[in-house]
Amino acid sequence: MDLLAQNFQNIKDQLPAHVKLVAVSKTHSTEKIQELYDLGQRVFGENKVQELLEKQPQLPKDIQWHLIGHLQTNKVKYIIPFVDTIQSVHSEKLLREISRLAEKEGRTVKVLLQVKIAEEESKYGLSFSEAKNIVEDYQNNRFPFTELDGLMGMATFTDNREQVQQEFLALKKLFDEISETVPLETLSMGMSDDFLTAIACGSNSVRVGSAIFGSRQYL
Ligand SMILES: *Cc1c(COP(=O)(O)O)cnc(C)c1O
Repeated sequence: MDLLAQNFQNIKDQLPAHVKLVAVSKTHSTEKIQELYDLGQRVFGENKVQELLEKQPQLPKDIQWHLIGHLQTNKVKYIIPFVDTIQSVHSEKLLREISRLAEKEGRTVKVLLQVKIAEEESKYGLSFSEAKNIVEDYQNNRFPFTELDGLMGMATFTDNREQVQQEFLALKKLFDEISETVPLETLSMGMSDDFLTAIACGSNSVRVGSAIFGSRQYL
């Protein structure tokens, strides 16, 4: 078995059956993505629209592409025809645009609300109260061509496990609270370095990149 296959198997062995794996393929080649596809993986995450648009046409059409990075309103139109889930909805304006363009395309698009749980200023995301307001508008049918599938969050980049745990647990609490009014499927938390902690805190979908593909070379 080559390294990619070994890494993939190793991650799968650690995931409980109810946890979905989104393989984060950003910066990695279509050959590597194809190799992972051939090993059975179907859900892939990319964080840049441009990169996703270059890769998507070269790869099998039944890949479920998740956009996990910051999305600008003016770029939504490019991914609406094929994207499976937009995990990084960080504003009401963006969600309105997704719904508007999904209607034009004759489809609904699954979305996750990205909630800010980390301390870092650099990380995007809705506050808890903003997320609740959007959920209320969603219930009032303001984004009819979207399907609110759940929440996504990224913990602070730190060795302090306790802090990471607290951040994940806070999002799980919000997830449970919202689930009382709107049924949510997906709580997307956890990356290569913290997915086991995230799962212990209630995550049912992890976004794993470097632990499968190896470290990223940014050019
Ligand atoms: C890059 C990225 C990941 C994966 O990170 P790894 O540490 O390589 O597993 C997960 N989520 C988001 C939003 C990312 O941008």
